[in-house]
Parts: sequence; C-alpha cells; structure tokens
Amino acid sequence: MSSRTYICVSCRWARRAEAAFGLVTELRCPLCQGGLWELSRRWRIPRKTDDDGWRELAVKVERDAAEWLPRRQLMGIAKLARLDEQISALEKQAASKGRNIRLKRLHRERAEVVVRYR
Ligand SMILES: [Zn+2]
Repeated sequence: MSSRTYICVSCRWARRAEAAFGLVTELRCPLCQGGLWELSRRWRIPRKTDDDGWRELAVKVERDAAEWLPRRQLMGIAKLARLDEQISALEKQAASKGRNIRLKRLHRERAEVVVRYR
C-alpha cells in the first residue's frame, strides 16, 4: 500500500492516507468538510502561516486539476461504455447462476466507476 498526502488548500490542512491514484475518495477536510486534493508526489507542506508556500501549492493544485479532472471523466466514460457492452452481452445469454453472479459483479463495478470517476 502506498500512501499520499491529501490537502485542503482553503483551510491549509493536510493528512496522509492510502493512495487513490487521482480517483474520487470519501476523505473530507475536518474543518470545511470539502473534498481533499491528492498530491501525486511528495510535496513540502507549508506551515499554516506560510502564505507564499500555500499560494504556490494552490497554483499547482489548480493547474493539476485543470489537466486531470477532464481526463478522469473521459476515462470514466470509456470504462462505463465497456462495462455497458459487457452487461448487455451477458443479458442476452440464457439465465444461469454464473451469469447472474457476473452480472451482479459488473453492476457493482459500474456503480463504483460512476462514483470514483466523476
Ligand atoms: Zn477545508
């Protein structure tokens, strides 16, 4: 398990947690309840009073978000299309225990993609 630093730029708050590799997590800032930004690599977290440090970090986060979030959404759309194809192919097969188990798994996977790639 690799861990990453998650930050809330507005509250100047940071924590370590398991890597989500850029996908949506349920981690929240304890101060504002907003979502946290996962830093992709080690980054020196400025002291709360370091205005320049946090400004620099805010610029980095904004730049990374502008690049990553649309890409994540496209990846999600592609994954959903593939899952939907698999689901409709399976639904055409004759009902069996194995088919139902696979269908359930695919629907679970699909629901997770909807949440994690939004
Ligand atoms: Zn916050």
